Amino acid sequence: MRKYVSIDDDGLVDNDLLQKGLLLEKNYGINYQSLCDISADSRRVVVSLNDDIEVYYKNGERVPKDKLPYNFRVPISDEYNNYTPEIVGYVGVSYSPKNHQWEEKGEKLFNEREIQLYTKGNFYSVQLNGRGKQFRSVYRTYVVILAHELFGHIKFMLNGKSALHYPEARSGEASNVELENHIRESVDEADKNCNY
Ligand SMILES: [Zn+2]
Repeated sequence: MRKYVSIDDDGLVDNDLLQKGLLLEKNYGINYQSLCDISADSRRVVVSLNDDIEVYYKNGERVPKDKLPYNFRVPISDEYNNYTPEIVGYVGVSYSPKNHQWEEKGEKLFNEREIQLYTKGNFYSVQLNGRGKQFRSVYRTYVVILAHELFGHIKFMLNGKSALHYPEARSGEASNVELENHIRESVDEADKNCNY
């Protein structure tokens, strides 16, 4: 299916070509279908490799580095991983624009949180830890985490579905089974098809 995935000079995925793949091929996976759906959606999704997480308060001010609830770290390379650089901590994060309509459960969780953070404009964002981009050894991690974020969280946000993890540890609440199952399938498929 790779021949149907192309990025133009503006960095946009060519949706016409993706749709052509849907028509001409029989064996495409769930991630290809997800990419088609996300690309056909009029809402914009930006995927980027960042050294630091870029996120904004509700008032539009960027969250300073020292106020980020978590941030990306430099990959670690030591005797425990045979000096093959690997990313520890956060590999990827997803954010919605301020105007995203959360479903009831998401809204509730958001209201419970001390601060809520958003993208700068009217777009959805997946940010991967760019501090590892010069190391080929982390590419598979990028692929797998991108599948988790983009085909899991972002896809569910765009579909108006419950898009957050609900750890069962949270008092008596069930986990988000639909999301967890979908993420597992997406990640497995991405891992299986990854050549890095
Ligand atoms: Zn997640």
